[in-house]
Amino acid sequence: MKYGVLADIHSNEEALRAVLTLLREQGVKGFLVVGDIVGYGPNPDETVAAVRALPHGRAVAGNHDRAVVGKKDLDGFNPHARAAALWTARQLTPASKKFLSSLPDRVATDRFTLVHGTPQNPIDDYFTTSDQFRANEGLFETPVCFVGHTHVPRVLRRHGDGAKVSAWNNGETIKTPPRDKTVLNPGSVGQPRDGDPRAACGVYDDETGEATLFRVAYDVAAVQKKMRDARLPAFLADRLAEGR
Ligand code: ZN
Repeated sequence: MKYGVLADIHSNEEALRAVLTLLREQGVKGFLVVGDIVGYGPNPDETVAAVRALPHGRAVAGNHDRAVVGKKDLDGFNPHARAAALWTARQLTPASKKFLSSLPDRVATDRFTLVHGTPQNPIDDYFTTSDQFRANEGLFETPVCFVGHTHVPRVLRRHGDGAKVSAWNNGETIKTPPRDKTVLNPGSVGQPRDGDPRAACGVYDDETGEATLFRVAYDVAAVQKKMRDARLPAFLADRLAEGR
């Protein structure tokens, strides 16, 4: 089956809708959600509802999903993230909070593993280095582990005696053979930080083991207007146009 892989949606309903349109055109039938469904953006409840409605959905929690339901304190959050988390907590219905509270740290099948951060520290660590790949490759059992949290599309895998970290570009297909382990970060749907403001997502086929990255333009200005109207921090609205 083909899965859409969604990380760091961050309450950005416009970006999510744009990504879902593309993924359906790609023949996606199931969805893997790698955490941070909410936080930062202007439509937390609508975004949670849209994620809950996805067919064949599997999801794990991110640090923001934990924070807005009181399962993680806000001390590690910068002032913008904290302000947005407090605002988000006030918007969510009890049903949405219950759903976010129920998300596990980790999901694993015989084909793939999902964590927001790293297998070692699923909620808080940023998976960015080859040393981390070496420290984590024994901590998941599947050919591929999808991660999020950095908002930057990346491929991490073994290379000779070490490991290699590379960019994952729009349209690029990565093979995840069963004899290897590959860590894939599909970038962020709702707040990209690699200099490209377009929403990012992955398509993963669990039969072929191939995963492809896609970028999709969405109406950034509409989201920024909603954020300003909601008095969310200006910095968070501004950065959407920069993709940083
Ligand atoms: Zn995030």
